[in-house]
Amino acid sequence: MNNVLMVFLVFVLLIMLILNYINITRLRNLEGLKTDIEKRYNGALTNASEVLWEWDLETGNFFATEKWRELMYDDIPKYMEISYIDRSHINPEDRERVKNDTTAYIYGKADCLRIEFRVTHQDGKEIWVLCKGQAIRDAIRQTPILSGSIIDITEFKKAEEQVKFLAYYDTLTKLPNRTHFMERLKEEITGASIKNSSLALLFIDLDNFKNVNDTLGHNYGDELLKQISGKIRSILRNEDIACRLGGDEFLIMLTNLQDNSYIIKCAEEALQILNNMYEINDKQVYISGSIGIAIYPKDSIDPNGLLKNADAAMYKAKEAGKNKYIFFNEYMLKGLERKTKIEGILRSSIKNNELKVYYQPQYDIKTGAIIGIEALLRLNSKELGPVSPAEFIPIAEESGTIVELGKWCLRKACEKNVYLKRKGLKFGCISVNISAIQLQHNDLINVINEILDEVGLEPKFLEIELTESVLMKSMDSNINLLNELKNIGIKVALDDFGTGYSSLNYLRKIPLDKLKIDRSFITDLTSVTKNQEICEGIIQMAHNLGLQVVAEGVEKKSQLEILKEKQCDSVQGFLYSIPLADDELEEVLQANMEYLEKNKMTKKHAFKYTALYSRMSQLKEKEAEV
Ligand code: C2E
Ligand code: CA
Ligand code: CA
Repeated sequence: MNNVLMVFLVFVLLIMLILNYINITRLRNLEGLKTDIEKRYNGALTNASEVLWEWDLETGNFFATEKWRELMYDDIPKYMEISYIDRSHINPEDRERVKNDTTAYIYGKADCLRIEFRVTHQDGKEIWVLCKGQAIRDAIRQTPILSGSIIDITEFKKAEEQVKFLAYYDTLTKLPNRTHFMERLKEEITGASIKNSSLALLFIDLDNFKNVNDTLGHNYGDELLKQISGKIRSILRNEDIACRLGGDEFLIMLTNLQDNSYIIKCAEEALQILNNMYEINDKQVYISGSIGIAIYPKDSIDPNGLLKNADAAMYKAKEAGKNKYIFFNEYMLKGLERKTKIEGILRSSIKNNELKVYYQPQYDIKTGAIIGIEALLRLNSKELGPVSPAEFIPIAEESGTIVELGKWCLRKACEKNVYLKRKGLKFGCISVNISAIQLQHNDLINVINEILDEVGLEPKFLEIELTESVLMKSMDSNINLLNELKNIGIKVALDDFGTGYSSLNYLRKIPLDKLKIDRSFITDLTSVTKNQEICEGIIQMAHNLGLQVVAEGVEKKSQLEILKEKQCDSVQGFLYSIPLADDELEEVLQANMEYLEKNKMTKKHAFKYTALYSRMSQLKEKEAEV
């Protein structure tokens, strides 16, 4: 029995030993596992891209992961207190905010701890970090434990700055953009209303900037805008703001004004710096500017109202001859409203059937026969009634609709030409006015060719009229274009001659057929002897160059007599005919045919016409030889 007991006890002991061994091994394994996890955990914390931290507010004990050294550029403190912020590398400008936000959260005055601040490293490198935290509060502990993270948000901030810059600044000139400026204007208006002071808005538009872009290219235009922006900024005080509104338009805001003296000083200085020669890549560019000024609260108390009024004043400055500044007054608005209305009307004038072409015949001064017809656009608006071309053409040019209207007029005139010729009526060419804007469009030749083709008109029956100022602007490219037109067989007339600044030297180089003496010389022809001399000079010079001369705006017989004496070739004016609608033109041309037949001039007329042009080409050839 004892033996059995002994064996049993040994067996139990053995079992216990085995179990113990198993347990120890398991525990050892567990221990190993635990150190493994810890190691991995520590590794993860050390390599994490963010700092993890914990701060016991009661004891001040502080723990942070290794990344702290890199992001906070500092050792990890064992204890943390608010005053640590002042000794840290946190940007001094951000310290107060960091302290306030942290304290507010600790005392339960803020819902969350979320602070963005800058940390400056010794080498000057600055990074942006985001610190987030959360308090663990319980009923027993009076003060909570804070824990949270810190991450590097420098790249994000850079992107944010970039987006902000794009949204608030003009990338070319680095000046504030319209959005930014208008926000500031709103703020400044609020400030001025509290302080009872006034502020001024200067609307600047460069004169003839388009020419720089068109003749020298956009790179030059951009460079010019950059230089001008710098100069505008240089005349302002720190508190004044300049912005680029877009294109060649700038705004200046002058604040804290007691009277107009500073505004005038600024406007004069701005004109002075604008009206200047700029040197761009070894090329010299001349430019000037027009300025409109509106004042808060006199002219408007609202930002958009001020802008609109300054714009209206600027428009007046342009009208008054450019390179000027003009203060807004309320009468200007009426003009601007009408302009905007006409702009809208023009856009749909073709579709709405509000546009017509009228035709004014030109007469041979000796025979009285019709030798040409000028096509003139007429706008009869359903809303405004008839609007003069002198008013709507500049608006169409400014808004760009002239391209579409001009093309429409050209097509109508060519169609009319073919229609009248098919009826056997004789009148030479129909001439069509071409604006500078159309000339700058690269496809003008294609447009003309297309219309001639579609309509079936011989190019020799089409004449285009260009004004001097248009031609002189980009002389070389225009001469090329005119040569192309001449090669096709189209005739070219120089319109409003004497009002521009044609150099006579250039006149030799331009391939022309006709000179049209401007109406202003004809109006006072009988009373002003100087005008007679000018007309005589123009006619002689034109004949020497092989050009035909048309006098425009002939209203009186006395004018006609002087022009005859001075050997002018042809006349156009109310004395003979006003611009005519379709059916009236046909009647006049029929009467002209009868007149030609009655005087047996049909052949002679035709002969005279060709003879004149052949005389011109002979002279041109001679000129070329010289
Ligand atoms: P413009 O090319 O010099 O046209 C001649 C202008 O003188 C016309 O004015 C015509 O009606 C006017 N006129 C003709 N004879 C007399 C006269 O004896 N006395 C007076 N006081 N005026 C006379 P309109 O039709 O009002 O056109 C004004 C300007 O508008 C034109 O001057 C031209 O520059 C522009 N224009 C007219 N139609 C077109 C067009 O289709 N395209 C372009 N680009 N401009 C056009
Ligand atoms: Ca004309
Ligand atoms: Ca003219």
